[in-house]
Amino acid sequence: MDKEEAKQLFRRFRTNRSGVRKNPALASLCLICGSTDVVPLAGHEPPTMHCRSCGFNFVRYACWKCGETIDGRDPLNPPCGECGWRTCVCTACQPEGCGEQAGHAKAATEP
Ligand SMILES: [Zn+2]
Ligand SMILES: [Zn+2]
Ligand SMILES: [Zn+2]
Repeated sequence: MDKEEAKQLFRRFRTNRSGVRKNPALASLCLICGSTDVVPLAGHEPPTMHCRSCGFNFVRYACWKCGETIDGRDPLNPPCGECGWRTCVCTACQPEGCGEQAGHAKAATEP
């Protein structure tokens, strides 16, 4: 991603975060400061990205269940109240499932 592209994405998504998870370039773009100096944080669960310019952290990973990207900055990926993982559009949160969320995830796979 070049600087101009990063700038445009930053302008587009800074205030309107819907669809952030759908754009692969946003995995390495900080929506707080606009930097592309974003690296994965080692040993974090759920998988977390870290902006080396401003120190902002956000979670971004593929859903273990349906494969959709989950991004903590996307309004469609709200935090699960029980485990702290993000909730996917398919309703799954952490891989082991938790409480009511696990029930939801299970029900969705049954015919
Ligand atoms: Zn930043
Ligand atoms: Zn999912
Ligand atoms: Zn959960």
